[in-house]
Amino acid sequence: MLVEFQTGEGNRHVVLSLKPDAVSVSLDEVEVYSFDREGRLLTAWVNDHTYVRTLDNRIIKKWRDPDRRRPWKLIEALSAPDRQRFLNQVWARMNDLSRDRLQSVSPPADASVKQARAWLSKIAAWDSERLEQERERFNSVYTPVSILPPDQYFALVLQATEGCHWNRCTFCHFYRHCRFRIKSDEEFGQHIKAVTAFFGDAIGLRRSTFLGDANALVMPQEKLLTILDRVNQAFAITPKSGSDGRHSFQGIYSFIDAFSGDRKSEADFRSLQARHLQRVYVGVETGCDELLKFLNKPATAQQALETVATMKRAGLQVGVIVLIGVGGDYYNQSHVEQTIKLLNAMSLRQGDIIYFSPLYEEPTSAYAQRAAEARIRSLTDRERHEQLTAIRSGLRFPSDSQPKVSLYDIREFVY
Ligand code: SF4
Repeated sequence: MLVEFQTGEGNRHVVLSLKPDAVSVSLDEVEVYSFDREGRLLTAWVNDHTYVRTLDNRIIKKWRDPDRRRPWKLIEALSAPDRQRFLNQVWARMNDLSRDRLQSVSPPADASVKQARAWLSKIAAWDSERLEQERERFNSVYTPVSILPPDQYFALVLQATEGCHWNRCTFCHFYRHCRFRIKSDEEFGQHIKAVTAFFGDAIGLRRSTFLGDANALVMPQEKLLTILDRVNQAFAITPKSGSDGRHSFQGIYSFIDAFSGDRKSEADFRSLQARHLQRVYVGVETGCDELLKFLNKPATAQQALETVATMKRAGLQVGVIVLIGVGGDYYNQSHVEQTIKLLNAMSLRQGDIIYFSPLYEEPTSAYAQRAAEARIRSLTDRERHEQLTAIRSGLRFPSDSQPKVSLYDIREFVY
């Protein structure tokens, strides 16, 4: 529902878009801010730049390359002083609005004007200091949520495990900070309670649940069934509905790696699917076995193929993630050829997703060191773009049931 105002002095046009779980506030159509049901900033759009606030109160700024040479966006995290300055500016605007004698423009109904004013007061009750305290609250509930697939940024993350049980792929730094462990039943129950309290009213914005961390599905099957039962007891999960208007989650989502995924049978995956596991994401990276070895990823293309085939036979949707630029000039051709071959063999269909993720080389990573030793040159932006185009143009799927194909820029990740 849209509610329009003029500021008391008539110099600003303000539009509030009220939704059950969020509100957006537009000022003269040149600045737009959105807030969750608790009144915490979600996003801002100012001067053609998008700002996204993470749950641990970092601000990520994104904008388009002005000459559009790159398909990926330019991204930076604001420094602490810049973050504070930015949040202070946002709240100066919101405080002005909440105190203003706003005049309704063609008012829809008294109730919605009242509702709009109530939202503004709720938002104005926050400020940069109080938001800063959210970081501590977040860190008391979660170990860092290192990465999610892009379609899961609005998931309710539930960390049944922490870290990655392998943690030795040369290009991956996501879980270096922690040792892999599986939470006990009781600890997971406490975690669910803490997560629910942290989100509060804003939980309605979360569309799905994501079982973290890196490869949570690696845990023993019996334990996994108990964990999924707990998730189903705690939350309403109705994959195909939403018709009665009550909030429910669309399903449970998670990562698995190809080298442990092939330890699960079709029957195992069916039992998980019966407990609302909906889609599983596999970091396939490449179809080239030699390159997988170079990355120290203990999987083969054949294992990835089998893991995906087993999950699909069990009725699960699959997300496969392929790296772009990995292996530099040396592996460029084999990466393109073998990846096309692998993806085309996977029988991916509507409901499945292929993500192409540009590799960002950490200069101090084991990957960068190995590449330097082997005299492998990193691909330029243009060459990475060409590699992406080459792989995409080699993909063949039935025209009436195609998987979604999308970019996965890990720098854009926010939670
Ligand atoms: S790429 Fe996946 S399996 Fe490899 S270390 Fe990272 S999270 Fe673990």
